[in-house]
Amino acid sequence: MDNCLFCKIIKGEIPANKVYENEHVLAFRDIDPKAPIHILVIPKKHIKSINELNSSDKFLAGELILASKKIAIDEGINLKGFRTIFNTNDDGGQTVYHIHMHIMGGRQMKWPPG
Ligand code: AMP
Ligand code: ZN
Repeated sequence: MDNCLFCKIIKGEIPANKVYENEHVLAFRDIDPKAPIHILVIPKKHIKSINELNSSDKFLAGELILASKKIAIDEGINLKGFRTIFNTNDDGGQTVYHIHMHIMGGRQMKWPPG
């Protein structure tokens, strides 16, 4: 998608601090971290949000979650714990319309998130 920030990161047109990549997904550190560890995992396919996911994306959705498991281990937060979040549309707080999973850890998370 031409005018999408995260597609530009995938294409290497905008730099990112990458932590993990495979054929299907890319993960990089959030530019404005809200926790000591704050990483975004995105599919290489442009999908706007969970609203636009469909059943043909099941494998990709699984890849996002499995990538979060691997990244949490690599970052050393798997045992203490971490949070994974998908923000969707305005009420969900979504600002970048290329679906992404936030991985946050390294501190105690609050509930409800607000
Ligand atoms: P959301 O608000 O759920 O759409 O999350 C978008 C996230 O992308 C925010 O946490 C931003 O800080 C982050 N972000 C925006 N631009 C960049 C960038 N160029 N590199 C890394 N993270 C970014
Ligand atoms: Zn995109």
